[in-house]
Amino acid sequence: MDDKTARKRQRQSEVRTIAHAAFIATQGFATRSVHGGNEVDDETYAIRRPITMANSYELPYDPTGINWSAAGGMVYTRNSGANQIWLEQKLALLESAEASVVLASGVAAIAGVLFTFVASGEHIVASDNSYIAAYRLIEELFPQKYGIERTLVDSRDVQAVRQAIRPNTRLIHIETPANPTLKVSDIAAIAKIAHDAKALLSVDSTFASPYNQRPLELGADLCIQSLTKYINGHGDALGGAVSGSCEHIGRIKTEAMVNLGGSISPFNAWLIQRGSVTLPLRMRQHNASALAVAQWLEGRSSVNFVAYPGLASLANHNVALRQMPGGFGGMLAFGLAADTDTCNYFVSQLRVITSAVSLGHDESLIAYLGPGDERQYLYPSEFNDGFFRLSIGLEDTEDLIADLDQAMARAGL
Ligand SMILES: *Cc1c(COP(=O)(O)O)cnc(C)c1O
Repeated sequence: MDDKTARKRQRQSEVRTIAHAAFIATQGFATRSVHGGNEVDDETYAIRRPITMANSYELPYDPTGINWSAAGGMVYTRNSGANQIWLEQKLALLESAEASVVLASGVAAIAGVLFTFVASGEHIVASDNSYIAAYRLIEELFPQKYGIERTLVDSRDVQAVRQAIRPNTRLIHIETPANPTLKVSDIAAIAKIAHDAKALLSVDSTFASPYNQRPLELGADLCIQSLTKYINGHGDALGGAVSGSCEHIGRIKTEAMVNLGGSISPFNAWLIQRGSVTLPLRMRQHNASALAVAQWLEGRSSVNFVAYPGLASLANHNVALRQMPGGFGGMLAFGLAADTDTCNYFVSQLRVITSAVSLGHDESLIAYLGPGDERQYLYPSEFNDGFFRLSIGLEDTEDLIADLDQAMARAGL
């Protein structure tokens, strides 16, 4: 745009330029999902913020005062960048947080929390069932490499969490609903235990998304999301986030983002920002279809068990009712009364549902987790013979049920 055109332009809306972000923060969840982190571009007047792929920004006239290890400031994209900041603004609005940090993956977010808040000789209490990389970090790598102590407990049992606390406990880390067993833990009760012990509570809330569950409103200190899943929602980018107070998020940025280097690419941040616009609409569909599929599965004689937070049969269903006001999510697990060969054959006969890991995508995904997973001694016993993790997508509910039905019939189930 030449200077003359630029001078002739006058903002349509005076109100939108003044403290627009602060106003959006007062609006409902869907409005925040649409408008959060998005402003009219100052240079081009585009109503969508652009992708800024630059890995560095022009230095000021006198750069001598710059702290090259600080997060923020527009200097270098590992420390901060335009698309990262805009996505962080939106996530903080969705999680009811003072601040968020976005990172290259959900695992970078979990590792960032552990690295920042726990030191050698200190102690972590963690859910016995969590994402496999969280399990590796907490159960193996941090103890072996840094002498960090840990106790894994069934965090559905609040009393067990309380009993696991030691004088040097710094962090309680839970995942609810948990991947892949859907175990539900009571965030508010565990937050109180953490705070009585002067420890922090971090909650991996990926399975719920902020539409269904907001751990910070229930007293958690840190909320972790794999943005790869529901928040992006389209299966085409990796990302992770931690939300919490300015102080905690600032520490994660300097200690674990700038210095460990797990920064997200501007393009992925932009894709996730774009995908997140429809989060509320998508979650409503995921919630409705997953409940219908879970109920249908529960009525089948060849189905051994179904784990879904929206079913009264799940332990802690009453806790889920209280802490997941938006709905119970699109993830469920179930077992079939069949051997491994039959289970694999059943999956091979699905025509709508795709066999793949990951979750929270537009398309439904199933993963057969056969017997023999080393963590299975920690799972509820019904999971020990192998089970399916099913991520219900946005297809027609009847098509999903019909697909499961015909594949079961072909497998003789
Ligand atoms: C997928 C997942 C992660 C890891 O996220 P990535 O983006 O794959 O690194 C962490 N926690 C939960 C609950 C997940 O489902």
